[in-house]
Amino acid sequence: MEKKIIILPGDGIGKEVTTEGKKVLEKIAGLFNHQFEFDSATIGHDAIEATGNPLPDETLTKLKNCDAILFGAVGHPKYDNDPTLKVRPEQGLLKMRKELGLYANLRPIKLFDELLEASSIKPEILKGSDILFFRELTGDVYFGEKGRKDEGKTAYDLMIYQKYEIERIAHKAFQAARTRKKKVTSVDKANVLESSRLWREVVNEVSKHYPDITLEHQFIDAAAMKLIQNPKSFDVVLTGNLFGDILTDEASQIAGSMGMLASASVGDKVGLYEPIHGSAHDITGKGIANPLASILSAALLLDISFGLKEESDAVIKAVEATLKAGYRTADIADSKTAKDKILNTQQMGTQILNELKKVASYQTSVASNGNQ
Ligand code: NAD
Repeated sequence: MEKKIIILPGDGIGKEVTTEGKKVLEKIAGLFNHQFEFDSATIGHDAIEATGNPLPDETLTKLKNCDAILFGAVGHPKYDNDPTLKVRPEQGLLKMRKELGLYANLRPIKLFDELLEASSIKPEILKGSDILFFRELTGDVYFGEKGRKDEGKTAYDLMIYQKYEIERIAHKAFQAARTRKKKVTSVDKANVLESSRLWREVVNEVSKHYPDITLEHQFIDAAAMKLIQNPKSFDVVLTGNLFGDILTDEASQIAGSMGMLASASVGDKVGLYEPIHGSAHDITGKGIANPLASILSAALLLDISFGLKEESDAVIKAVEATLKAGYRTADIADSKTAKDKILNTQQMGTQILNELKKVASYQTSVASNGNQ
């Protein structure tokens, strides 16, 4: 298969982790005989420094003309410490999502058994949790009218949703549920918010096309509580932009660390794959960032954008085998981790490449035995 992939490292540890994610894609191309052409582009703080624009036109053109994007993160302490700065890294991210028509953010929350102990939730509550979040990306308070009045003493952000925005992501969530446990939990605040009442109405309408899928509705406050109390009760979770932002970070605790969770942003064209974590200023440049979320993002890219299920599974198996062998980055290490098994970013990437070779040769031998 011939595909063009843009690597969009962004800022902070985004650069460190996408380096490892790219190596995995290169390795997959070599092992499974694909031609992946790579190019890179800038976004965020780096792009502002170079061009004054968090999403330069050159970047946008490249993104619109590729088959998939592996993204790191944006953000810099300068902007976090000064909210009055008008040009900001996250504007690049929001514009990119809008321009590429990326309306659905998929976040699989799957717990690796080896990391049960790393979570702050009890292992018996967690074991077997497997949730797929669908967070809407183009509406809600992030894109509604915002401003100040009364000489700056009153501020507002309009929570806004249009029917078509809800419909298209609801269809994606119901379709995904068909390949899983056939349950969708739609999360809103319909007891208080008008936009949530429209959300619920539209999700109910869409559900009529999927009689084989069980639909339940939960209010955001109840869902936030149940996610910790009984994460196994969820299969596919469908929610808006703001509630999804908060719930998925909460759910990251189920997986033990922000450094383990990948996500896919999809629409009708090119897909964008990124870790759920940010640019992590506190560990930038130390070489200790966990690259597994970026590597698992590469696995999602192979599966969702290219339909390469076997290759994607090989990456996930390589991560499982690495964790099983006891290797950890500092964020997922615990008191039982042997000192010589605590790896830095690059070493973890190399360990995954070694495991990939083994997994791929096993898969090939199983396939050729099957052909005999
Ligand atoms: P963060 O996700 O960057 O970090 C939160 C905590 O998790 C930090 O202690 C960090 O060290 C740790 N962490 C995150 N990823 C890790 C990894 N791969 N390995 C080990 N530890 C990891 O969130 P934050 O600190 O709230 O934000 C930092 C910056 O990132 C801000 O400027 C924020 O705006 C930006 N941000 C960007 C995105 C994005 O680009 N999608 C998302 C969230 C935050």
